[in-house]
Amino acid sequence: MGEGEHLVIVGGGAAGLMAAGQAAGAGAAVILLERMPRLGTKLRITGKGRCNLTNTAGLDQFLAHFAFPEADGASHLFLRNAFARFFSGDLVAFFDNLGVATVEERGGRIFPASNSAHEVADALARFARERGAQIQLRARATELDIRAGRLRGLRLHDGRHLAAAAAIVATGGASYPGTGSSGDGYRLAEQAGHTIVPLRPALVPLVVAGTEPRRLMGLSLRNVEVRLLLDGAEFAREFGEMLFTHYGVSGPIILTLSGPAVQRLGQGRLEMSVNLKPALSPDKLDARLLRDIDQFGGRTYRNLLKRLLPQKMIDVFIDRSGIPPDKPANQITAGERERLRALLHDFRLHITGHRPLEEAIVTAGGVETAEVDPRTMASRLVEGLYFAGEVLNVQADTGGYNLQAAFSTGYVAGRAAAERATTARAAIERPRGNRGL
Ligand SMILES: Cc1cc2nc3c(=O)[nH]c(=O)nc-3n(C[C@H](O)[C@H](O)[C@H](O)COP(=O)(O)OP(=O)(O)OC[C@H]3O[C@@H](n4cnc5c(N)ncnc54)[C@H](O)[C@@H]3O)c2cc1C
Repeated sequence: MGEGEHLVIVGGGAAGLMAAGQAAGAGAAVILLERMPRLGTKLRITGKGRCNLTNTAGLDQFLAHFAFPEADGASHLFLRNAFARFFSGDLVAFFDNLGVATVEERGGRIFPASNSAHEVADALARFARERGAQIQLRARATELDIRAGRLRGLRLHDGRHLAAAAAIVATGGASYPGTGSSGDGYRLAEQAGHTIVPLRPALVPLVVAGTEPRRLMGLSLRNVEVRLLLDGAEFAREFGEMLFTHYGVSGPIILTLSGPAVQRLGQGRLEMSVNLKPALSPDKLDARLLRDIDQFGGRTYRNLLKRLLPQKMIDVFIDRSGIPPDKPANQITAGERERLRALLHDFRLHITGHRPLEEAIVTAGGVETAEVDPRTMASRLVEGLYFAGEVLNVQADTGGYNLQAAFSTGYVAGRAAAERATTARAAIERPRGNRGL
């Protein structure tokens, strides 16, 4: 078989591996290029090493997670077609067939029962190989060979030229570049004439003013409510878990809130208000404080705080409330008690920025979806060129949505590109066959 009949897939991540297995299974001669020494490097660190691979949410609810403020509002429309072809139930069945059992957790999140992202990545790599994809590691695509509006091949970092009937760019985003996803796909797409919607970090930790984050570093708060405020006016809120880091805040609800927060940076004073006791109304919390003071009146304010807060927050609360730490609890005034209550319900932090794109879980922006056919993932500009995964301008919330998008677009691109490549092969083989007639 000549090289020009190949389908070349650039990137051995979630989207590329799915595409490779689907395309090879459909009869295409597939070459998968992966620049790293190993397949699925990013996939192996997803979900804190457990890989939240999809979500049980119904289609409309699922798509709504792609319409969060940071997205351009169109990616959920673009994905509807791909999800109609290959959705969460199909993905769970797909992995089950590969011997990867899955379990559902809180919020409809699906994880491998083994809790191992490696198991997911290894199974996908096996799938691609066993279906017949030829995998080349440490092979970095640097240029597309496009002539007369048609893809003819690719050039690699070592100067090699690979002829191809079709190519799928599945190079991922530009976040966590150490995993191999360093933004090459955007350059390849640009070279093909595609518009790149400006890249922005999505699901990114936030930077907070002052020294408090450093004092609270490592502290994880569960069951808190965080509200975001611009010049005092609330514009978003989430309930769940957050984490303090040396520069500010991170953790699930912060990542979810980072979209609307990043959008409003520079538009006024951006603050977050942490409600440490969201289950208690102001009256109930005050009653609880009074009860504690009654019961432990002889103890110091510092000791009283131990009943209310994690250890790491105590000194910060002492400083903020201005109540002397050694003051006996039964001498705390009504005004001081109200200050403490207000702090517990409204612990304010001033957001001054966000961590860089490299530290974002997902890269927002990317290949303009209006220039890609949602039924095939084919470029509308260059014949034989396809896109799949995070390189596209699709991005969602946490919860397994991003990986499902990579798998679904990989599935669709793999099958459509295979059809093109096998047609090209048949066209080349036909004259040969005719000779014998
Ligand atoms: C820490 C972290 C945790 C995450 N957890 C979750 C989660 O639990 N659930 C979820 O849904 N999403 C999660 N995500 C997001 C998810 O990992 C991505 O959305 C997904 O991996 C995108 O898949 P992809 O195939 O498009 O890109 P990638 O998985 O990034 O794969 C792209 C591949 O292309 C290769 N490549 C790049 N350029 C070239 C080139 N020029 N030549 C050859 N190869 C190239 C890269 O080396 C890489 O292997 C997480 C992300 C991070 C960073």
